[in-house]
Amino acid sequence: MKRSIVLAIVLAAGSLMMTLVAVLPASAHPDGTFYSIGRKWPPNANETWYIDNNVPAGAFRDRIVNGVSAWDNGAGGAGPNFVYGGVTTSSVTDILDFCERGYSAVFVRENLGSALGGGPNSALGFTPSCYNASVGGTFAVSFTMNLERTAEFGTGTGWYTGTGNPPENRWDLWSIVAHETGHATGFIGHFANATLCPGTPQPATTETMCGGNPALVDTIMLRTLEAHDLHTYANAY
Ligand SMILES: [Zn+2]
Ligand SMILES: [Zn+2]
Repeated sequence: MKRSIVLAIVLAAGSLMMTLVAVLPASAHPDGTFYSIGRKWPPNANETWYIDNNVPAGAFRDRIVNGVSAWDNGAGGAGPNFVYGGVTTSSVTDILDFCERGYSAVFVRENLGSALGGGPNSALGFTPSCYNASVGGTFAVSFTMNLERTAEFGTGTGWYTGTGNPPENRWDLWSIVAHETGHATGFIGHFANATLCPGTPQPATTETMCGGNPALVDTIMLRTLEAHDLHTYANAY
């Protein structure tokens, strides 16, 4: 089966966020933009996904499950349903070899940012989807979520894998997985609108699909979807 990858998405550094700010008018809610290439999951797709056994056991895996489930029923019942299938062992040694695996899974990697061609500690996650070229490449057939193992992006000093409030300078794993799962649904790019994604994040309004903002360290703001996340998603499906 011939497959193609669409887009590389990272919880991006400030430079990418600034680029997006420049192209989005301050008042726009461009719902179509983020799925505009027309590629998403088949309607009501049930996609079983796995956690690779290189992911630390226990709370780390539990928070991944929490984060992926943030998008359940988020598109008015029409979007993909990601069904957790348990822990698996990959024969793929290069976890960035996305589409050769043939199933959806979550991996961790030390120094993901450098593996993606950026600087050290420049990324927390990277989640492309694969599309089946033999049926026109319209629909996603799998996703690969890659997470940094040690999470020193920005001022971060590692993951927080609990369910409460993270200590200072720890990245909330649940939040970042919820953000990455947005990309797994087919979401391309990030919101950068200053109201949706203020430079100083706002607990009640900052959207899960905002671009990478080091100020989101030690917050839980991305765990749950906000209004613009939800209607952008629902409109696409
Ligand atoms: Zn992202
Ligand atoms: Zn909106």
